Amino acid sequence: MRNALGLMLASVGAAVVIAALWFWTPSPRGDLAVAATVSAPPAERLAATASAKAAPAFEDVEVTATSPAKPAVPPQPKTACANPDALGVSRVVEIDTTGGPGFGFAHFKQLDFLTEKEIVLTFDDGPWPVNTPAVLKSLADECTKAVFFPIGKHASYHPEILKQVAAAGHSVGAHTWSHANLNSKKMDEQQAMDEIEKGFSAVKLALGAAPSPFFRFPQLQHGPAAVAYLGSRNVAMFSCDVDSFDFKAKDATQIINSVMTKIDKAGKGIILMHDFQRHTAEALPLLLRRLKAGGYKVVHMKAKAPLQTLAEYDEAVIKDMKLPVASTRPVNNVVQTVTE
Ligand SMILES: [Zn+2]
Repeated sequence: MRNALGLMLASVGAAVVIAALWFWTPSPRGDLAVAATVSAPPAERLAATASAKAAPAFEDVEVTATSPAKPAVPPQPKTACANPDALGVSRVVEIDTTGGPGFGFAHFKQLDFLTEKEIVLTFDDGPWPVNTPAVLKSLADECTKAVFFPIGKHASYHPEILKQVAAAGHSVGAHTWSHANLNSKKMDEQQAMDEIEKGFSAVKLALGAAPSPFFRFPQLQHGPAAVAYLGSRNVAMFSCDVDSFDFKAKDATQIINSVMTKIDKAGKGIILMHDFQRHTAEALPLLLRRLKAGGYKVVHMKAKAPLQTLAEYDEAVIKDMKLPVASTRPVNNVVQTVTE
């Protein structure tokens, strides 16, 4: 009963404020939206005095006043990390990919931007059921971020998983359409370009948003023509400093030991792993704890601007995503009417 009275008083109060502003505002009707937004604080005060339970009453007043504009939403605070001892992210760097810079000292030695004990986590070959979500969970548990290089075909099989990667705030580049070796003698320049562009278009289609202009060559095979092409497309190329060789590991422990030994020797760098691999997914919780204990700090690499994919390749990917067919036998060979 008291609530109902409070609500009524609050509604009347708000109506008075709105009406008053209506008369006091000399500008045309279109400005009511602005006035309504500005009036929110006095209405709130009225509601607070009219009812002991001010907050719900005010919510109702908002509806009663039928304001066409909601008060501006303040910027959302950063989600606090639930794990006080998390690995976290120590630094976020924005990458200007103009001209196609290369990262990772295994192949590119110009850009030495990491300081001692700084690492970048990178994951190739996903998205894949079970393993990619497990990797995402481990990264979330440690409140840390990585760069993902999905295979275009895998992105087209599991777009919902790739969407989860992007939604978690990780950077998403590409790793060709079909994981072809772009340095192979069998691969001409046009085929290499097709692999690169179709890979990016598939990632874009899966995400519903443009990917980062970040690329990793399959098997780290840097074909010179493809390097030049990526440069012309302003796509950054990622080699690595520490190759986990996780796809060859017999279990999670071997991956952890291999990565820790190599990073301790290098002191810093980009670590290459595969979210596609089960043992990597299994290794990650402990590996991230070991990195934290070793004093390593994660740097998150973000692109300054997204990649503009090419329309012809976007269309090619859509064509390829027709429903899979196991048999091409015509219908009358498969379905025979035997009684009618
Ligand atoms: Zn790969």
